[in-house]
Amino acid sequence: MSITESIVNMVSDEAKKRNVNKVTKINIVLGELTGFEEESIRFYFDVLSEGTPLYGAKLDFKKVKAEFKCRSCGMIYNRGNFTFKCPYCGSSGVLIEKGKELYIDSIDVE
Ligand SMILES: [Zn+2]
Repeated sequence: MSITESIVNMVSDEAKKRNVNKVTKINIVLGELTGFEEESIRFYFDVLSEGTPLYGAKLDFKKVKAEFKCRSCGMIYNRGNFTFKCPYCGSSGVLIEKGKELYIDSIDVE
């Protein structure tokens, strides 16, 4: 819930700054490792945005998948189902900094 609250606050501030009356769309970048669910953000957004210029805005999520880098061959890959192993050589890979992002990419206003 608090993450949705900060999204609402951030966009509200931005709307105020730009002097807009209505936010029509919010483009959010959401990494799969953040643990946040699109559905629950949407749910709380409807509740929290009521009475603000954000109410009724469409939430558009751009999902970012976690990426791994193979320690042997250096290949970068997305995780397969239930495995962290490199799909090319079978060695185990390490997580690189991807999939942990959560931020507002842009907003559309009226
Ligand atoms: Zn490999």
